[in-house]
Amino acid sequence: MNKDLHQLSVAELATQLRERKVSAVETAEHFLNRIHAQTALGAFVDVNDETTLAQARAADAALAAGTAGPLAGVPIAHKDIFVTQDFVSTAGSRMLAGYRSPFDATVVSKLGTGRSTPQGFEAGAGMVTLGKVSCDEFAMGSGNENTAIAPIGHDSVAPVRNPWDASRIPGGSSGGSAAAVAARLAPAATGTDTGGSIRQPASFCGITGIKPTYGRISRYGMIAYASSLDQAGPMARSAEDCAYLLSAMCGPDADRDSTSLDTPAEDFTRALNNDVGGVRIGIPQEFFSAGLAPDVRAAVDSALNEWVKLGAKLVPISLPRTELSIPVYYIIAPAEASSNLSRFDGVKFGHRAQDYTDLVDMYKKTRAQGFGDEVKRRIMIGTYVLSHGYYDAYYLQAQKIRRMIANDFQEAFKVCDVIAGPVAPTVAWKIGEKSSDPVANYLADIYTLPASLAGLPGMSVPAGFGAGGMPVGIQLIGNYFQESLLLNMAHRLQGVSDVHLQTAP
Ligand code: GLN
Repeated sequence: MNKDLHQLSVAELATQLRERKVSAVETAEHFLNRIHAQTALGAFVDVNDETTLAQARAADAALAAGTAGPLAGVPIAHKDIFVTQDFVSTAGSRMLAGYRSPFDATVVSKLGTGRSTPQGFEAGAGMVTLGKVSCDEFAMGSGNENTAIAPIGHDSVAPVRNPWDASRIPGGSSGGSAAAVAARLAPAATGTDTGGSIRQPASFCGITGIKPTYGRISRYGMIAYASSLDQAGPMARSAEDCAYLLSAMCGPDADRDSTSLDTPAEDFTRALNNDVGGVRIGIPQEFFSAGLAPDVRAAVDSALNEWVKLGAKLVPISLPRTELSIPVYYIIAPAEASSNLSRFDGVKFGHRAQDYTDLVDMYKKTRAQGFGDEVKRRIMIGTYVLSHGYYDAYYLQAQKIRRMIANDFQEAFKVCDVIAGPVAPTVAWKIGEKSSDPVANYLADIYTLPASLAGLPGMSVPAGFGAGGMPVGIQLIGNYFQESLLLNMAHRLQGVSDVHLQTAP
């Protein structure tokens, strides 16, 4: 067996599989062996070797028959916020411990074996699911410390560890996804990003991740956190791999997700290798203020320099309401969460308290037992800001400022084509360092929240290394539907730098 299968990119694996140099079963076995050997990382919360191998056999059959999808046989791990029929779907919550969904999320079907639609059967990309990876409970968090599910190989709940330094967090909420890709336990993973959950863990683990324009990817089967912000996206080693995955994930799904855009799927690989000469990169002064750690700044500057050498121009810009994105997001997201999570009442899904006196008592005990502290905190904040008398003062004001933040971006895009800056103010912090201080976690989201609130595509690309040798990503933000530009910029950077190819020691 090829010992180095885990070092191949998604694109390389797809080619080797298509040329039958390696089989899907061999590939799946190789990655499953790695996953079982590295459970200390805490990345996977569910694997099922038989299911994975059955999918791999089906991929081999399709490859032999010439009916295979573009990524047939390439393994992928799914964030445990996407519902899956063949694996548990927990969203990192006790509320859904052991829960099995009767259907697959649209993202899972599109990357996998396909799905039926009102227009007929839509073929999938043919990827093979390795299992489900850990995340913060209902995607609320920045360090993957808010999970209530024990990873495989562990008897109790354990945080995901950063492959670059096991004493540090991998980022969150898609921490399991980032750690799995960085440790080469999977060539790619899905993530979701509500306020930074693809970009920040990608940055902290030294991988590449993109959150497309809001509405590009169907939210059907993505367990909801804050519906007006939630967006799925791919996490992989390179921009090229992300382009392949994103092409398979995007596309309209109006019958199942009313906010899914009508825009047809694109082949994002086509724009790769476009010239970046003359591209105007906007540098928001607010992203480079005092709160940015010097080591992160140095890595970001070095990536900017590479683009300048490729002919891009740096243009100073301002996003004046950057700081306000924190209070605005932490009003809107909890407001939507408090409404979304009302469905977990012990009647319809998952956990139900054992001893109760009447219906209301059952609701109370179920929710008290099922939800973790951070989720309860957000339900309380959300209920408060939506309540009579406070709605106008908080929720409505936040919505108005959200619109102004989106407008600020449109002003900026008059003078630049893409915006670049840090993803997070520091490198990944130590496990436990911020777990008792929710506000410290919220503040670290400052650079990712603005693009989320505006619904713009955002990406994290490995830029270099900072304190303790930890990875640092650079963030690229594009105007609506400019995913190709972001991916191409990142791809060109990765053509002249090998930061994204370095692996954890
Ligand atoms: N850290 C942010 C939060 O806790 C963002 C999470 C996310 O994007 N899902 O809400």
